[in-house]
Amino acid sequence: MNNTTDNKDNDLALYVHWPWCKAKCPYCDFNSKVPTQTPDHAQWADAYVSEMKYFHELVGKRPISSIFFGGGTPSTMAAETVGRIIETASDLWGLQDNVEITIEANPTSVEVAALKDFAKAGVNRVSIGVQSLNDENLKFLGREHSGRDAVHALETAASIFPRFNFDLIYALPGQSVGEWQNELLKAITLGADHMSLYQLSIEPGTAFFKQNVSPADEDSAATMFEITQEIMGANKMPAYEISNHARPGFESRHNMVYWQGGEYVGIGPGAHGRIGLRAARTALHQIADPARWLARVATDGHGTAKTKAIETRQSIEERIMTGLRITNGIGRKGFETDFKQTLESALNPEQLAHLTQLNLIEIDEAGIRATDDGRIKLNAIIERLLE
Ligand code: SF4
Repeated sequence: MNNTTDNKDNDLALYVHWPWCKAKCPYCDFNSKVPTQTPDHAQWADAYVSEMKYFHELVGKRPISSIFFGGGTPSTMAAETVGRIIETASDLWGLQDNVEITIEANPTSVEVAALKDFAKAGVNRVSIGVQSLNDENLKFLGREHSGRDAVHALETAASIFPRFNFDLIYALPGQSVGEWQNELLKAITLGADHMSLYQLSIEPGTAFFKQNVSPADEDSAATMFEITQEIMGANKMPAYEISNHARPGFESRHNMVYWQGGEYVGIGPGAHGRIGLRAARTALHQIADPARWLARVATDGHGTAKTKAIETRQSIEERIMTGLRITNGIGRKGFETDFKQTLESALNPEQLAHLTQLNLIEIDEAGIRATDDGRIKLNAIIERLLE
């Protein structure tokens, strides 16, 4: 494959972080918490609107290409809050005609019942946290739903939204390659246009980390990854990023903004943003603690904890790290226009030659990308290219 993609300068994406969950999953290292009392939905809506006004002042009027409600479990937000955020984004920035508005949801019955209200509020894509179709695995992952609930949630999503994604986690301890293969083949029949397929990773600070849980051994995990690529490719949902598969044309616009070095504003506790492009790029981090974030927004109109100018070299490294995750890789033209230097000059020349010779990386006039073999070892490859 050599049709390499360039980032789009005009896209501005909006990320909205809702930190609350009904229970903390043992593998989760996101900024999510179980609330000690019911969130005051009106207060949260006001706080989001304040931050949007603040960021509008910073970035100016730029039509929004995508809005993503993530968390946490944003499907436990009030639909009115979701509607108010979409309306405010439209009033302040304007929405592109084909704007993608995604909300993450869990497959529990209450949240599935709320999907229609989110659609009425303007959401046009849902991402369901299925994680597994196997009840035993769901129990191990600390999830509150069953495989049957997941199938029902996906059927409901299909009847309401033109586009939907769901997530699965594989390479669980003791999971065999055959078990994963069967689960994946069943998952494909559920009609999503996009599937995010993640290997279990044990992150510091999580309950699994404290319990010394280990994912499937490296060899099995690598075989499961290869089988995943084969099955998804054969079913016309190839990977367009390491863990993300879509029917052509159904790739997540929001994620592509992250991976292609685009601009995004992040509102809500712990949200990150990147505004400005190339050498003028700035990283923003909102206060992570929900109560402190709310209090700061109430006094200052925004809860930004840290604003940091990103130096050009760091910006280049970010582009390499995220761009090589995409199957199409990094476009030469876009990269060289943005950074006023050749792709080759940004990379370690010996490692580039070596990795190309090993057929782990391809570099040509269109740009640079990892090969099928390279994608399995991507972290190590990126580290070497940036030495
Ligand atoms: S529902 Fe999602 S965000 Fe919440 S604890 Fe579980 S994995 Fe984390």
